[in-house]
Amino acid sequence: MNTLEAMHLSEASQAFLDSELGSFVNNEWVRPDAESVSVIQDPCTTEVIARVAKGNQSTLNEAVEAAHLAFNDWSRLPAVERAVYLHRLADALERNFDTIAEIESLDVGKAIVNTKGFDIPFGVDCIRYFADLATALPADTPLAIKNMEAKIHRVPYGVCGFVFPWNFPYNLLLWGIIPALAAGNTVVIKPAELTPLSTLFVAKLAQEAGFPKGVINVVTGSGSVIGSALCSHPKVKRMSFTGSSEVGKQIGEACGRALIPCKLELGGKGAAIVFEDADLDLAAEQLSAAITFNTGQVCCTATRWIVQESVADTFTEKVVAKLKAVKIGHGLAADTGMGPMASEKQLNTVIDYLETGKAQGAKAILDGERLQPSGCEKGYFMSPSLLSGDSSNICFKEEIFGPSAYLTTFKDEEEALAQVHSIDYGLANSVFSEDLDKARRVADRMICGNNWINAHNVFAYGLPYGGVNLSGLGGGVNSPETYYDYLRPQTVARPL
Ligand code: NAP
Ligand code: MG
Repeated sequence: MNTLEAMHLSEASQAFLDSELGSFVNNEWVRPDAESVSVIQDPCTTEVIARVAKGNQSTLNEAVEAAHLAFNDWSRLPAVERAVYLHRLADALERNFDTIAEIESLDVGKAIVNTKGFDIPFGVDCIRYFADLATALPADTPLAIKNMEAKIHRVPYGVCGFVFPWNFPYNLLLWGIIPALAAGNTVVIKPAELTPLSTLFVAKLAQEAGFPKGVINVVTGSGSVIGSALCSHPKVKRMSFTGSSEVGKQIGEACGRALIPCKLELGGKGAAIVFEDADLDLAAEQLSAAITFNTGQVCCTATRWIVQESVADTFTEKVVAKLKAVKIGHGLAADTGMGPMASEKQLNTVIDYLETGKAQGAKAILDGERLQPSGCEKGYFMSPSLLSGDSSNICFKEEIFGPSAYLTTFKDEEEALAQVHSIDYGLANSVFSEDLDKARRVADRMICGNNWINAHNVFAYGLPYGGVNLSGLGGGVNSPETYYDYLRPQTVARPL
């Protein structure tokens, strides 16, 4: 029996993995060259779980053309009718809850407890939130201007292109495309080549839910071929990219040349300030969870722990005990708290960072090591780590994207904020203190998109989420503003 059978993968999940996977264009599955495939591995075992045919330049052109043609009818539907399609997709995801959870866990290596408890239900909530919002929010705003009848009239852009990373394929897909669809746009999606499976499963459910052809299209393949062609295609009218700051700059540049409006949701290096009057048990619980959730492959997580000198030892003791207690194993095992890194490449990146950080003088309070859990001897597992030292270290300054944090200490509020602002990422930070006036004051002063008090990684629909500086520009996700991001304002005026 192989490891997957031992994990009781359901028949529905297995049937999907065994099916002929490829791009999804105009409601049809397309495999331009069945020889040119992405081989998808279970990162827990390195076993091959699926083969996805790659799209090529013609697949991309066909997808954009299909989305362009579909736009006319889709954009003219009343918002309430588009909302009916969206709710049907949410219903289908709920009916297929276990299958989509298994597919996502298997593809990324995620602990199934998190996929079932967070990713999948939160994605369904996203669909229902924007479906309802689109029926409630007015598209037009009347203007009161002297001697004039005037209004802002909002219309969808047309074809919207999306490029996604590999760490939260299902959630980021929905956070991205659902507001665009609700607003009347059609979409062309380029999922990460490493983790395309849940995106293809959602496309299959959208087809079953009756979405008109051409409204949702997925083109598989690499960023350098499909992604770069998408973000300069003349029929793409709006782009959205989620991924690293480095690739984000390239995409911003390409969109700039093609004058395609573009939003960039990029990397992070979140800071958590822990004051001496904080509930240290709570801080230890939140921050150990922050670096083990999704094996630390989370853009907004807290990996710079900036702790007041007087409580640094006590906090360290508490947080190390929590990190050591995390159960590491196959993502599909019910008792797993943390799975593997999503790829060998990412595992090596994390190990290289830890080596360089230590060579630069960091102390390993808890060292990160490769692990071989039973039944998963070949998988990309490693243990959580905590380094400490000063804020000039590479592990304090750069995004590592693994289960690793770096601890520094501070004496007063000004010094803590100076450390936070010593680098240019600005995605998500937190403050831990029982003095809520101080916590609010410090949170207000952070140069950062998302600032949390006595918690880290807080998401809710209605709470805008986005980054500044190296962490992104041009919008965010999860709020009414996101919906309006996918509507182009134009004015209509008549002199009286
Ligand atoms: P990445 O290397 O930037 O890749 C992201 C996507 O861009 C992938 O689909 C990739 O294709 C594609 N791509 C690569 N080069 C491209 C190019 N020249 N033109 C167009 N597309 C291109 O990021 P990653 O390694 O997948 O993901 C991790 C990063 O994402 C981290 O930095 C993380 O912080 C960030 N992230 C940010 C958020 C947020 O909301 N702010 C959320 C999640 C993740 P391939 O299939 O070839 O890789
Ligand atoms: Mg990458």
